[in-house]
Amino acid sequence: MKPNPITDAPEDADQRKAIKPVICYPTETLPRPDLSAYRALRNDLELIETVVIPPRDAATWEVPAGHFCRLVCPEGPQVGDLNLHNLHNINERFYSGKTRALNGTHVGLGDQLYSNFPYLRPIATITHDTLDWYGFDAFGGSVHDVIGTRCDPYTHNLLSHGGQYHHCCHSNLTRALAKQTGLSPELVEPHVHDVLNLFMCTGFTRDTGQYFMKASPVRPGDYLEFFAEIDLLGNMSACPGGDCSSEHSSDTAACYPLTVEIYKPQGLPEGWQAPQVNSYDRSHGL
Ligand SMILES: [Zn+2]
Repeated sequence: MKPNPITDAPEDADQRKAIKPVICYPTETLPRPDLSAYRALRNDLELIETVVIPPRDAATWEVPAGHFCRLVCPEGPQVGDLNLHNLHNINERFYSGKTRALNGTHVGLGDQLYSNFPYLRPIATITHDTLDWYGFDAFGGSVHDVIGTRCDPYTHNLLSHGGQYHHCCHSNLTRALAKQTGLSPELVEPHVHDVLNLFMCTGFTRDTGQYFMKASPVRPGDYLEFFAEIDLLGNMSACPGGDCSSEHSSDTAACYPLTVEIYKPQGLPEGWQAPQVNSYDRSHGL
C-alpha cells in the first residue's frame, strides 16, 4: 500500500482529474488480421503432436508457421505461464509489454502476440478461446493476462526473507529451455521472458492499483488456440500456484498438468504471408 499523500492538492485538482483518458494506441491504426480467413481452416485440422506439461514443471514444443496450437487444461484448474521464441533465433521472443500496450491487459480472440525489438512483428494470432465468455468481472478481473511477469525464485527470496524454491515458473521455463537448446541454465536464463498468463484470472484493484489474482474459471477441456505466424518454439510452465486462488512459490496448491496440441490445417488463410520483421531502419537518428 502506498502511504497517504504528503502534498497539497491544487485548487483545480478536480478539473485535472476530470480530463477524459484517450487510448494510447488507437486500434484503428493497428493492422488486424482477417480472423474469418484463419477460422475457416479450423473445420479441417489434423492433430500432429501432443505435449504434456507435468504439474510444477515446464516443457517445450515446436509449431511450424501456418499451424495451429492449442493450449489445453485437460484435468483440474491450472494456470500456465507461456513463453514463445522464434524457433530459429531465440533472441526474438514474445514481448508481453508491447502486446499489452497494443491489445489491452488481457488477450483473447483476434488479438496478435508481438515479438520484441528490433523485430516487433506479430508472431501468433489467437483464433479461439473457450473462456471468451468471461469478459471482465465485477472486480475488473479477466483471463489470459499480459501484465504479470511469472512467479520466480528471486521475488520469492525477497518476500520470504531468504527462501529457496526451485519450481517457480521462471525456474521451470529455464530448465525446459536449457534442455531444448543444450545450453547451460546460466546462458538460457536471460532468454526466459515475461509471459502470457494462460487461464490466470487477474486485474488491478481500483482503489490501490495493486495486481490481484483470483481462482481461475478454467474447466477441464478449456483451451486457448493460436495460429503460428512464424516458426515458433513454445515453452510453458504449469504454475506451482495451480489455479492461482491463493499463493505461488510453494508446493501447497493443488496442481494439474496442461497439454499442448499442434494441428496442421489443410491450407493457409487466403492471402496469408508470414509477417516480415519490423521495417524501421534502426539508425536511431545517428
Ligand atoms: Zn507461476
